[in-house]
Amino acid sequence: MLKPSPPLACTVRDCGLWLEARGPVLTCTRGHAYDVARSGYVNLLQPQDRRTLAAGDAKEAVAARSRLLAAGVGRQIVDGFVARAAALRLTDGAVVAELGAGGGNVLGALAAARRISGVGIDLSTSAVAHAIRAFPDVTWVVANADRRLPLLDRSVDLVLSLHGRRNPAECARVLTRKGWLLIGVPGRDDLIELRESVQGHGVRHDRSEALTAEHLPWFALVERFSLRATHRLEPDALVDLLRGTYRGARRSLIDRIDALKPLEVTLATDVWLFETAR
Ligand SMILES: [Zn+2]
Repeated sequence: MLKPSPPLACTVRDCGLWLEARGPVLTCTRGHAYDVARSGYVNLLQPQDRRTLAAGDAKEAVAARSRLLAAGVGRQIVDGFVARAAALRLTDGAVVAELGAGGGNVLGALAAARRISGVGIDLSTSAVAHAIRAFPDVTWVVANADRRLPLLDRSVDLVLSLHGRRNPAECARVLTRKGWLLIGVPGRDDLIELRESVQGHGVRHDRSEALTAEHLPWFALVERFSLRATHRLEPDALVDLLRGTYRGARRSLIDRIDALKPLEVTLATDVWLFETAR
């Protein structure tokens, strides 16, 4: 069963009506219906939104990230991100949505810390199936967060995206007038040592100006900060970092890691906190 009335919206083109839970089915008043999986998540993907799906890669990536987190790798990043979200003035029952929620560690941790109504969205069925086993109190939805979000207008108090999808126009649509948007993206020197060893060079991408600019039509910047950690990692963990971080890390890259020795690796995430500006 789904949790009580999350503000989910029908994803049939040009519909967008509220989805009400009726037993094992979610349905809008136009009669569009979605089965709730036995484990409790719902798949709202429309056929035209499935094209980018690479289920195999996603499953490997989720498993790799779980192994890393279980070993404490990336834990400071997740904990720091969740702590910033938990420090926001959220009322009891506040709706918090996460885009690209993956295995659910961020939203699951926030739901354990605060009385929120969580809605985690990911394109990967295997990621969502993993998330609902670990965090059954959150609503988990399979949907394409690059398209129209499966959420009602002005129904969400906080949107989270940690290394996930970004969709500023849609975030602005679904957030309330006093909504928050918390985004974390890889910093310039994220995994720089690993990228240098594997590729022979490490490009230091700086996404900060572009990210700020793409949000300013709808949002005001409240705060920026960085989360950092370093870990000395064995080759197995280095392979997991590539699998879990870079979508579809190429086999040739992973093969080259087998020749690597243990490596000190920097994890760096830049975080933006925006509020809706209307
Ligand atoms: Zn509908």
